[in-house]
Amino acid sequence: MFPAGCSMRGLLIWSVLLGAVLGKEDFVGHQVLRISAADEAQVQKVKELEDLEHLQLDFWRGPGQPGSPIDVRVPFPSIQAVKAFLEAHGLGYTIMIEDVQSLLDEEQEQMFAFQARSRSTDTFNYATYHTLEEIYSFMDMLVAEHPQLVSKLQIGNTYEGRPIYVLKFSTGGNNRPAIWIDTGIHSREWVTQASGVWFAKKITQDYGQDFTLTAILDSMDIFLEIVTNPDGFAFTHSKNRMWRKTRSLTTGSSCVGVDPNRNWDAGFGMAGASSNPCTDTYRGKFANSEVEVKSIVDFVKSHGNIKAFISIHSYSQLLLYPYGYKAEPAPDRDELVWPAEAPSTGPTARASSTPTPSSSGTRGAMASCCRPPRSSPRPRRRGWRFGPSWNTP
Ligand SMILES: [Zn+2]
Repeated sequence: MFPAGCSMRGLLIWSVLLGAVLGKEDFVGHQVLRISAADEAQVQKVKELEDLEHLQLDFWRGPGQPGSPIDVRVPFPSIQAVKAFLEAHGLGYTIMIEDVQSLLDEEQEQMFAFQARSRSTDTFNYATYHTLEEIYSFMDMLVAEHPQLVSKLQIGNTYEGRPIYVLKFSTGGNNRPAIWIDTGIHSREWVTQASGVWFAKKITQDYGQDFTLTAILDSMDIFLEIVTNPDGFAFTHSKNRMWRKTRSLTTGSSCVGVDPNRNWDAGFGMAGASSNPCTDTYRGKFANSEVEVKSIVDFVKSHGNIKAFISIHSYSQLLLYPYGYKAEPAPDRDELVWPAEAPSTGPTARASSTPTPSSSGTRGAMASCCRPPRSSPRPRRRGWRFGPSWNTP
């Protein structure tokens, strides 16, 4: 808690000043526009906009089917040009976020107000965001509190030398079949690391209480990597809240980082991945070039008994499954969409309504959790969309 007498306004000023002192990238005047493209011709126009690199647009939800909303963060210097372009082509839009920086300031203020370090996972604040150090300390507390159930493995070191940790939930056995879950491979998707922290706590609470989880852990292990891109995550806290990639250097380019979710050795360089190091979807020079990716690949391969691999992303409401770089449905498509059929509050889909990939082939895939690629017709059910995913190793 913050000290008595320290007003929220004071905190805000403090956090803004602190941001300025630390040299954080600011997003003052950046707006997020929601664009509606009514038909294919209008979708094409938005794609033209997407290709205008100098505008530095950040598509949170890219152009897809006509009628699907398109969300884009527009830097202040580009706002006039973008709005003029949209108006010239009859594209409707609304301003979803007037000023991105004011939301980030609120976020900082909230984190600052609740930054008190907890001594146990019971008093840990699950309702605010945490730094890398706080999450790593949470992991250690959880392991100390449940040594019979939880252990911490280090599967590698990041490009910048940070340890890469995975929590193992196991009730015994030897190399049992296992479920892999990772959160935060895209560092700016903070709600996913926060969800990972919550999953970890929930698993320890529910074991022995919840029938399904207990049954799973009695026969399987769960591996959970909460901070899958630690360098990127640290950078989102210290310098640039919108950082998504790793922090590796690319020879021959001044641009930093690789999209780790385009770096897997599966359809490398195909749908939805860029060869330009300056883009947010840069695939890297070669598959598994990123140590954060390679560490997972090595771990999964050496384990040899991973039965499910789940990667959590944020922003869109999408359930994605492999493989997105080609158009054919996965052979086990029916099984893959099955989990979506059960909960009434979650996504609902039937195998028969699973998307028909577009004739454009590879672009029909959901190449990105956050940036749907072009031409990806698929049905909507209760606001969720379904399709193959690029992001499985
Ligand atoms: Zn993502």
